[in-house]
Amino acid sequence: MSFKNSYLASVMEAVVARNPHEPEFHQAVSEVLESLEPILERKPAYQESGVIEMLVEPERIIKFRVPWVDDSGKVRVNRGYRVQFNSAIGPYKGGLRFHPSVYEGIIKFLGFEQVFKNSLTGLPIGGAKGGSDFDPKGKSNAEIMRFCQSFMTELAKHIGANTDVPAGDIGVGSREVGYMFGQYKRLSNEYTGALTGKGLNYGGSLVRTEATGYGLCYFVEEMLKDNSTSMEGKTVVVSGSGNVAIYATEKAIELGAKVVTASDSNGYVYDPDGIDLALLKKIKLQERKRIKEYAKERPNAVYAEGCSGVWGVPCEIALPCATQNEIDAESAKKLIENGCIAVGEGANMPSTKEAVKLFLESDIMFAPAKAANAGGVSISALEMSQNSQRYNWSFEKVDHMLQKIMVDIYKKSSEAAKEYGYEGNLVVGANIAGFIKVADTMMAYGVV
Ligand code: NDP
Repeated sequence: MSFKNSYLASVMEAVVARNPHEPEFHQAVSEVLESLEPILERKPAYQESGVIEMLVEPERIIKFRVPWVDDSGKVRVNRGYRVQFNSAIGPYKGGLRFHPSVYEGIIKFLGFEQVFKNSLTGLPIGGAKGGSDFDPKGKSNAEIMRFCQSFMTELAKHIGANTDVPAGDIGVGSREVGYMFGQYKRLSNEYTGALTGKGLNYGGSLVRTEATGYGLCYFVEEMLKDNSTSMEGKTVVVSGSGNVAIYATEKAIELGAKVVTASDSNGYVYDPDGIDLALLKKIKLQERKRIKEYAKERPNAVYAEGCSGVWGVPCEIALPCATQNEIDAESAKKLIENGCIAVGEGANMPSTKEAVKLFLESDIMFAPAKAANAGGVSISALEMSQNSQRYNWSFEKVDHMLQKIMVDIYKKSSEAAKEYGYEGNLVVGANIAGFIKVADTMMAYGVV
């Protein structure tokens, strides 16, 4: 760790001591705390008020048993989590992740990031995250439904339209949100928007499905524009083939780029002719098959085992859209050597600390996740507004609002970076801009 400020170093030490064996959480906190050095010099009240120490501690952690019965009649037991990190500026908001790698440290890192991301959107939402170590892969629809119902039976006690509004994340898409919302409605005996990412027939918002991927491209396009270029004609490498990756691919193609890769946790496909979006959607969204199936249906596409190889494919723009720490220093070096000019993080914390450092030291334009992937939660907040109004806005209206929000986030982040002497460093800019609103609000509340 490299803190010049001894107070921030001591806060970080306490976080590590209090949350042992949670490296992802430490990584997320240290990145934010390092960015706060310039602001503490100007406003010592952030130190004197204790607000930073309060910020790194979740307001509440809920951890629960999720028992369910599989198709063979066997009882299975998973663990569920909801980390309600910070509600200073609005009800807790953040997704649910179902993946075998989920443990408290992953949910804490995601919840912490969410606090700053949600603040950056300019919308009144606090930060939270939840999930389970349940693995949806290979499960039948009936098993997914039983799991989701059991998970919600406990979670329902802790959420609500004005308290905490979960959404999707890895392993949680519209099918899972549907099962969970159905169970929530049944248990609470009310029809309120306690979840977002819902189907369009029952309170979902147009553009929510596309929002994170589209928002990522709007953000990257703005960053490129600020540097006198654009996505048009660029070769783009995308990792992942889930919700974020598919809609980032769709928007990048619409903006005139050529996307040449897609991946999953087994390997990646390289299609020199440009990814066939319709085929990608058919394989991933309709058939729920592995990405290697794509190469079987495209004459020039090749499939390679392993995830990190995707970063060796030459490109001008890289959009990591799979998972945390998928770009390490070695992969970052490959991207830099191959002439990549911009990296836009669609996934949460997809670059390791070493990779981020290399990007910032190079000429690459680097769009950090908490700014660049805030489109999903922004449209979730707009879904909450539509639910309160019991009204649905048009696709065009919501898409227009998404574009405006992403451009605003870019401007806020780049202006904060400039103001604090880090021009061009959107990591520092996004962290400071996200921090100020939450910290000032917490200080207004006093010690609570
Ligand atoms: P999905 O479950 O729809 O897709 C995840 C994709 O990433 C899949 O292709 C999956 O492959 C791959 N993946 C997951 N884990 C790993 C791993 N350990 N190694 C390599 N590949 C992996 O999730 P989303 O698209 O919703 O989420 C992707 C990222 O974007 C996450 O970091 C999430 O937190 C972030 N994000 C999502 C938002 C949203 O609105 N959905 C909002 C903001 C951020 P496989 O099928 O093999 O598991």
